[in-house]
Parts: sequence; C-alpha cells; structure tokens
Amino acid sequence: MTQAFDVVIVGAGMVGAALATGLGRSGFKVALIDQAEPATFDADLPPDIRVSAISAGSERYLAELGAWPAIKAMRTTVYTRLAVWDETRHPLSNLLPRKLAEVTFDACALGASHLGHIVENAVTQRALWNSASSEPGVTCFPGRTLTALDNGAEAAQVTLDNHDILDGRLIVGADGGNSGVRALAGIGVRRDQYQQQAMVISARYRGPVKDITWQGFYPSGPRAFLPLHSADGDQCWASLVWYDSPDTLARLKALSNEQLLQEITRAFPQELPPLTHIEAKASFPIARQHAKRYVNQRVVLVGDAAHTINPLAGQGVNLGFQDARCLQTQLREAQRAGKDLADPGLLAAYEHQRRPANRRMMLAMDLFYHLFSNRTPPLHLLRNLGLGAARAMPFARNQVARYAMGIDDELPPLASQIARRRPGFKTL
Ligand SMILES: Cc1cc2nc3c(=O)[nH]c(=O)nc-3n(C[C@H](O)[C@H](O)[C@H](O)COP(=O)(O)OP(=O)(O)OC[C@H]3O[C@@H](n4cnc5c(N)ncnc54)[C@H](O)[C@@H]3O)c2cc1C
Repeated sequence: MTQAFDVVIVGAGMVGAALATGLGRSGFKVALIDQAEPATFDADLPPDIRVSAISAGSERYLAELGAWPAIKAMRTTVYTRLAVWDETRHPLSNLLPRKLAEVTFDACALGASHLGHIVENAVTQRALWNSASSEPGVTCFPGRTLTALDNGAEAAQVTLDNHDILDGRLIVGADGGNSGVRALAGIGVRRDQYQQQAMVISARYRGPVKDITWQGFYPSGPRAFLPLHSADGDQCWASLVWYDSPDTLARLKALSNEQLLQEITRAFPQELPPLTHIEAKASFPIARQHAKRYVNQRVVLVGDAAHTINPLAGQGVNLGFQDARCLQTQLREAQRAGKDLADPGLLAAYEHQRRPANRRMMLAMDLFYHLFSNRTPPLHLLRNLGLGAARAMPFARNQVARYAMGIDDELPPLASQIARRRPGFKTL
C-alpha cells in the first residue's frame, strides 16, 4: 500500500513526536513512524531510568504544543537551584573552604520561578505521542522500522518493514544518534568518543523532595544528583549519574544493588541525602557527534540524529526541541509562500540557524569536560579561579544560566568567544 504525506518523520522520540505535533497543528499531513510505541504511564511504577532536565525554554515550547499540561499531570519535579563544584583534592585545597570552588544558580536571582523540571523521558515521549496522534493530520505507524529510502530531487519515499510505502515531500530523520535515515541519505558524521561513560542510577533516599540539582566534578568525571518525585512514606526518588572510565563503570555495574549503594554513599559528595534503595542502573557511552550536513535533497535531520553532545549539562533534548521549533517555522513559511517543503533556501536557513547554535553548546560542554577531567595543578587552579570568578560576577553567571535555561538565545559574549576559539570550532 502507498500513502502520500507532506512530511514523513522517522523516530517518535521526544524530538520527532514534538515536531509531528507542531506540524499537525499547522495543518500539515504527517506520518510519524517508530519501532515502538511509548509505554502507557502508570503512576505506581518506579521512574523511567532515563530522565532529562527540561529547560524553561523547552517547557514553553511544549506548552505551545499543548503537551505540557499532560506532562505535568503525569510526573515532573521542579528545581529552583543548580550547584556545581570542584571535588578534586589537591594540597592547596585543604587550605581553602570548599564553598569557594562552588557556584550556585538560583531562580530567584534570575527573576524566574524555577530553573527547569526533571522529567522522565518516557513521560515526555508518551505525552507527545498522545498529542501527535490526536492531531487529525498526523498518522502514527507504531512498531514499524524503515527498510529503504528513496531520496529523489522531485519526490522522496520510505519503505517500511511491512512493505508499505510512504511518499513524502520531505523526510525527517528524528531517529536518534544511530540514525538509519542519516545513513540511508548518505550523510556522514564527525564523531569523538569521550574517555568517560555515564552510569545512571534510579534510587530512593530518606527525606523530602529536593528543589536542587547538583554536580560535583572529580578528575574521573562528574557525579550528579537529580531530584525526582516523592515515593511511599518519608522517601523520595532521585536519579544519580556517575561519569567514569568504562572499566570503573563495568566494575560498578557488576556489583549487587546493595554493594553499589555502599559504593555510592562512599564516593558521592557529602550533599547526597541518605540512600535507602537502588531500583535500577544502566550505562551509556557518551560521544560528541555532528552530522556533516543537516540536509540532503528531501531529507533533513533533527535532534540526536543531527548532533549528540556530552550530557553533563543536560542539554541534548533541549537543543533537539530548538531544532524542531526552527524547522517548523521554516516549513510554515514554505507553506505560506506556496513553496516546495524541500525548498533548498528554506532548508539551508534551518541548517544555518541550528548548526552554529548546536556547535556552540557542543564545544562549551567539551570545554567543561577537558577542564574538569584533569588533575594537573595549573588546570586545577584555573577551574577554581573560573568558579571563583563566576561567584564574583553574578551578572555574567546569570547570563550563562539564562542561556542554559533557554531564556536567551545567545551565550554572553566572553563565553561565546571562548567556545568559538576552541580548536575544531569551524570544522565541527
Ligand atoms: C545519560 C544521559 C543523560 C541525559 N540527560 C539529559 C538531560 O538532562 N537533558 C537533556 O536535554 N538531554 C539529556 N540527554 C540527551 C537526551 O536523552 C537526547 O538528546 C534525546 O533523547 C534525543 O532525543 P531524540 O528524539 O532526538 O532521539 P531519541 O531519544 O534517540 O529517539 C529516537 C527515536 O527513534 C526511534 N527509532 C530509531 N531508529 C528507528 C528506525 N529505524 N525506525 C523507526 N524508529 C526508529 C527510536 O525508537 C526512538 O523512539 C541525556 C543523554 C544521556 C545518554
């Protein structure tokens, strides 16, 4: 069977499903394909192991799409403060109070009610799947993968694993870091594997729901705490992230949950509330990856299919939402002007806006990674001077926070210049 659409989106992760909702609401005829339908939300089940810090800017976008109330109604945890500090021990560090090397961002100082929400990926995906499928113009194809892509100058089509053929004026690859659409469209990537991997742990602790998310930087990688909702009794859920070498994480993964709990209690900063239980753990390789181009004829990439970044500042899906919003704007413009949806000028405008913004964030994360994953005394001093300067310059610090929250589109000039001067900025 062959069906015709304006836009065929492969991948109904958070980014693909958001784009489908936005295009459906603008009157486009959209196909949304995913190998699996997101699970139905069940408030009695433990949290999804994958959670994301959703910025205030992304929250606004999700509200525009009509999905935010459904996300809130399922489960979210607000945070109003974010703290980072250096945990590297050095002879001089014993002479200084640790708080000197700590920076805290506070919503109050930014004139905002909150900095963001921690949301389980499964919650966001489910809400967006529901919002996309309730749009009359959107047809969902759950449980389907694509087996072929024909990317012609005049038309494009994908073949599904049940031999259905979907024609589209535009095909969107929203199928994540290992994008099949990207490969089938012949778009290459530049990829750098970091030395570290990330282990995510779902745990319960004794105490009230926290409104702070924090990250202590060790030379072997950061250790982070993300607050989640309340559990039974006087306990709450949290998501912990432990970045370390693949060998260390393999050793930790082999431990029983009880042994791991002991290790975490020993290794995490003293700010960690008392853990009572570990529910689940999973590790993820982390890589910086950027598609060499976002567009090839009638194929365009969004989200992780176009770029993956070091998750240490939790920005990946927030960048993906910005891609989706930008592409939506270009396609609405094409519709208004009666242009082809694959009009080269409009798709070039999408790439022109999104590539430098994604590259800046990618390199800012790289800067953090290299500065903090290092034991040499000069770098230790430099990062502590940096944290001290950030403490002493609330204006600059708040501007960086506004950028990370998605309130401002640009980094402050100095930070932006540093990111641009990183080797490889132009080629990435
Ligand atoms: C440890 C860790 C922590 C993170 N924390 C944060 C955070 O706090 N904040 C943040 O913003 N980001 C965070 N990220 C990044 C974030 O998870 C990703 O950027 C985000 O999930 C990308 O969304 P996406 O929709 O582009 O891709 P994905 O989430 O990868 O979705 C791709 C979809 O495509 C489908 N698919 C794939 N192949 C096919 C196919 N052939 N046919 C059909 N369907 C297909 C998949 O089933 C999936 O549903 C984190 C990442 C990691 C690893």
